[in-house]
Amino acid sequence: MQGNKKRQISLPAPYMRPHYDVVVIGSGYGGGIAASRMSRAGKRVALLEKGLERWPGDYPTEFTECIREVQFSSGEGHKGKRTGMYHFYQGSGQSAFVGCGLGGTSLLNANVALEADPRVWQMSVWPKEINNDFDSIKKGYEHAKEMLEPIPYPDDFPELPKLKTLEEQAKRLGPEFHKNFSRPPITVTFEDRINNAGVRQQKSTLMGNDSTGVNDGSKNSTLMNYLPDAWNHGCEIFCKIDVKSIKQDKKSKKWIVFYEWLDTGREAFTIDSHNSVSFVTADIVFVAAGTFGTNEILLRSQANGLEISSQLGQSFSGNGDILGFGYNTDLYCNGVAMGDINPSKFKEPVGPCITGIIDMRESGSNVMDGYVIEEGVIPYAVAGLTNFLLRALDDHPVVKSINEPSINKTAKTMRKIASSVSNYKGAMANTQTYLIMSHDDNTGYLELRDDRLNIEYDGAGLSKTVKDLNDILKDATNKIDGTYIPSPIWSKEALGNTLITVHPIGGCNMAKDGYTGVVNHKGQACIYLKKKYVYKGDGTEVHEGLYVCDGSIIPRALGVNPFFTISALAERICLLAAHDRHWKINYALVKEPIDFEKPSVIWPRESLDPVDMTWPPLNGGITFTEVMRGYFSTEVLTKNYKAAEMQAKSSNSTMQFLIDIVAFNVNALVDLEDNSAKIAGTVTCRALSPDPLVVVQGKFRLFTKEKNQVDANSMLYNLNLQATDGTKYRFKGIKLLDNGSLINAWMDVTTLFVSVFEGHENEDNFDDYDDDEHGRKVIGRGILKIRVNDLITQMETFKAIGTSKNQRTSAFFKFTSFFASAVIQRSFTRFLPLQYSSNGLTIQSFDKPRPTKEEFTVTAEDGVTTKLFRYKGGNKGPVLLVHGASVTHEMFSTNLIKHNFLDYMLDQKYDVFLIDYRIAPTNAQSSQQQTLEQCVLDIKAAVNEVRRRTGCENIAVVSHCLGSVVTFMGLLSGEIEGVSSYVASQVGMTPGVSFWNQVKIKLHLLQFLQNVLHQSTFDVRTSPHTSLLQGTINQLLRFYPYAVGEVCQNALCHRNSLAYGTLYKHENITQLLHDNLDQFMGEVNLTTLNQFARCASAGELVNYAGEKIYVTDDNIRNRLNFPIFLFRGNDNEVYNVEGFRATYEKLITINDASNYSIRHIPGYGHLDSFWGTNAQVDIFPKILRHLEDTKSNYGYGHKAKSIF
Ligand SMILES: Cc1cc2nc3c(=O)[nH]c(=O)nc-3n(C[C@H](O)[C@H](O)[C@H](O)COP(=O)(O)OP(=O)(O)OC[C@H]3O[C@@H](n4cnc5c(N)ncnc54)[C@H](O)[C@@H]3O)c2cc1C
Repeated sequence: MQGNKKRQISLPAPYMRPHYDVVVIGSGYGGGIAASRMSRAGKRVALLEKGLERWPGDYPTEFTECIREVQFSSGEGHKGKRTGMYHFYQGSGQSAFVGCGLGGTSLLNANVALEADPRVWQMSVWPKEINNDFDSIKKGYEHAKEMLEPIPYPDDFPELPKLKTLEEQAKRLGPEFHKNFSRPPITVTFEDRINNAGVRQQKSTLMGNDSTGVNDGSKNSTLMNYLPDAWNHGCEIFCKIDVKSIKQDKKSKKWIVFYEWLDTGREAFTIDSHNSVSFVTADIVFVAAGTFGTNEILLRSQANGLEISSQLGQSFSGNGDILGFGYNTDLYCNGVAMGDINPSKFKEPVGPCITGIIDMRESGSNVMDGYVIEEGVIPYAVAGLTNFLLRALDDHPVVKSINEPSINKTAKTMRKIASSVSNYKGAMANTQTYLIMSHDDNTGYLELRDDRLNIEYDGAGLSKTVKDLNDILKDATNKIDGTYIPSPIWSKEALGNTLITVHPIGGCNMAKDGYTGVVNHKGQACIYLKKKYVYKGDGTEVHEGLYVCDGSIIPRALGVNPFFTISALAERICLLAAHDRHWKINYALVKEPIDFEKPSVIWPRESLDPVDMTWPPLNGGITFTEVMRGYFSTEVLTKNYKAAEMQAKSSNSTMQFLIDIVAFNVNALVDLEDNSAKIAGTVTCRALSPDPLVVVQGKFRLFTKEKNQVDANSMLYNLNLQATDGTKYRFKGIKLLDNGSLINAWMDVTTLFVSVFEGHENEDNFDDYDDDEHGRKVIGRGILKIRVNDLITQMETFKAIGTSKNQRTSAFFKFTSFFASAVIQRSFTRFLPLQYSSNGLTIQSFDKPRPTKEEFTVTAEDGVTTKLFRYKGGNKGPVLLVHGASVTHEMFSTNLIKHNFLDYMLDQKYDVFLIDYRIAPTNAQSSQQQTLEQCVLDIKAAVNEVRRRTGCENIAVVSHCLGSVVTFMGLLSGEIEGVSSYVASQVGMTPGVSFWNQVKIKLHLLQFLQNVLHQSTFDVRTSPHTSLLQGTINQLLRFYPYAVGEVCQNALCHRNSLAYGTLYKHENITQLLHDNLDQFMGEVNLTTLNQFARCASAGELVNYAGEKIYVTDDNIRNRLNFPIFLFRGNDNEVYNVEGFRATYEKLITINDASNYSIRHIPGYGHLDSFWGTNAQVDIFPKILRHLEDTKSNYGYGHKAKSIF
């Protein structure tokens, strides 16, 4: 149908809010009406429909297309897509055919909109409020009529052979039949128009495919009126939602609707998907999932503890439906529907499915004897199959035995031959399809068998009424010389007299109390109180907010097609529900065409979801389902995920998530834009809730650059979770993919580190992927993993989405190639192009307010000047910070780090001094050759200057690496005086280097640089335009023996490793710092390095000549007899642990051990001890503690002590 293709009124499940005023389940007549009326009462409504949204033009016509849409249920199992449009139920004695899709069975029905016989309303099965208030029923019919707009097949429309034949049959059956022949009102549009819901409809092309879906837009299904009306009034519609059960939260009294989201791939994880249902809460629920859907949901809810009448499932009826065929009559019927081919090719139009009726409801004194006969159409899709079946059955002995001998046998034979070549010729062209609706005894029942709905109605087809009515159809057929063929499955010999109905009703009957039925006259579900058949008070206590308003509430067969009556009751129920709450439903008709781009009511969203209520633009996206399982501890709350996992394992505290990731725009996802992938689903964790927790908001980010770790990409899962009791949680999951092998990559992409915090995150911070949650209470931590078989299933769930095949294909390839290249890059980083530092480009940094930076020039004894800087943070200290090789004082103060050491000390109110001594790349002397002894002179001068400026006799020093070597040398030699508290980072007076540094020393690499390559300095900075020699070094350094996970592409970082060994654990430092080290790292002269290498070879400090003159017992006893704290990162790749420990051991053997302390810091390397993203927690406090503990020894603390 033109003009309707773009319509889309349903939203994907991830757009569902956690709570609505009203939730409606199902979208047939009951559901459509409840959604429209409640939205028109100004309520926030969500409608949940199991099937798909499909507009005219999209309905299958061909047999092969239709068969794909068939689903088949019985107590034994289910076959076919659970969203399939044509749903067959096979029961015992009674089977049924219903619709599944947005619009329910209204998409497939035969349109007849007839009121029930007024005598039906007087029957005692109805509550007295119904018996006594026919006006309210009438009003219900009127409201439904306004929206459904039924009219009889117009007189001025082409004559329809099947209609004419039915009239002729009525005539031949006798006057009491003929007088009851008429054209019933049908919900079909016979002119191009805007309907009363503001929807444009086209006039019928009379093709007759009503039972498989009418593609011309003329069928007044609820998709054409109530549903768009609800949407236009703000109702949010969600398809592919299979509601499982409902329950009421005892405390909040809210209704919890548990559902499974179908067709996203979740079904691949069948068991998990059943166990991990999502939920939405509501103040009021309207259950309108059709007779089978509603009974199934309520029976399951009852089994799960919902108090509801024990009559549930009882008194099920097939509405006395009988199907039959008048085969090969001598009258032309033209009752086989046309395909979607040019109607002009056909002799005559077929017409809508039912256009005529012989209404025998008033034929008897007893309303129960009434029935109607209607003619029908064989859908195009099954024309061939029906042709084959009818021809075969025509010769069946049972059929022969029930029919009169035919009058004109030759003509019949000729017609049969003709029909063997065409479904539209001969016998088929002369076949009349009949549908009878009557009154059965409604003694069928519905039950759950292994959680599946089972229909039991044995003997339904054996009643006298069924037999009598079949006889009437036989008469009607024989009178036009045709063969009556009853429904094939009714034939006794075939399938045990099973009837098939298209009008299943009951099971949740409306009745005067819970003793006789399930809902009251308002549709409210009655409470069944524990003991059998014992009801509170008069047995009419109901769940105020739980309504049922579909075919399941009809307490007995109506003797006529039911949807108009279902609609009238649903209208009445909505009116009373609104009335009881003092809400006003606006019944005004919509005169203007509604804008399918934008509904007239849009409820604001307080969350990050787009306000736009239309389906997000699909430029080619991707969806997949992921299941991860693992352990979650509410006892280990630190970021030690492994410890949390172990603790949780010991107490079997499990966690599992089953989520659907939907990226509507794969470009956005790949380009790392926000909002690009949504998460819907559930988390199951008994430590948090007995029921699954639902994801009320969820975002997924794919391979986003990890800020807190070099060359790492992370996959981030940010979720707001809600438990059924309303408790809110914030779930943060991170998968870290860093440099390593393929095996590492596999581990990385299958391991999720989980933190759960109290409360929901608001929109402003939702995208915050930092682990620290701004003071939010941590509820627990854990690790989830993907099992291999789950991953295989996950692969099957990958689905590209888009409006065209091209879009889908390109989305699929873009996503998969991006994913693969990210994994491969991380696995083969060594061979990727080199990256060079920023070279002074402006970069984002962390600027903090600091006291004014004072700057002094200090002159050493040999005349070399150095820069000394001071930040007077307070009256603690003073402390002098001494940097290592190739680096300036900025190693302590760089604003490329969020929490640097200088700011930490200033926060602690220390008076901090920093020096750029002669080997600092900013010092003019740095390119000159310097011995360690010469460096000592700078430190000596700086210490003296600090003492002079502060007036403190003694000061504290914190030094790093070569700064520690030089400081120890100065202290041991007595050159440096006035230091009485000292912190040495990574190395002491007995340096020992790591294995690879020893190899370099043994290979005389420095001598090679100096003597063969004639280099006097080595600059760690480099650029793509460097000299041939340096460029060659850069390329060769790809093969430096980096530890797993320490390979990167940064050329400066590689050169650092050559000079010193791997300087930091990449996982500890930020990308920002890593990529901009050139800002404060640079050149070092080879003489300094050479002397240091000699110290390392000697195992202790030596002078330039290589003599061991420093580390003597006397020097230690006399000059190091004050508090010294040594610390080292456990994973230091520059120095070895043996040399480090040797310093400590020497100190404590010679002096009072209580002066010295040593710490090996797990998880840290060399420079990350100062630069690590968590150093302010793991390391700085340890340095501070030493300085605080020793404050009476030095500086202002010492002076204060001396005053008193
Ligand atoms: C071929 C055919 C011809 C018919 N002709 C006529 C006719 O001419 N006149 C007449 O009056 N009647 C006719 N009917 C019957 C009529 O269409 C139905 O009685 C009527 O549609 C029932 O309305 P309902 O609201 O009870 O349920 P339905 O219209 O069946 O709607 C129920 C909806 O709920 C959905 N659902 C089910 N389970 C779940 C779940 N767990 N979670 C979420 N959603 C769920 C279903 O997918 C469905 O869309 C015909 C039916 C058929 C099949």
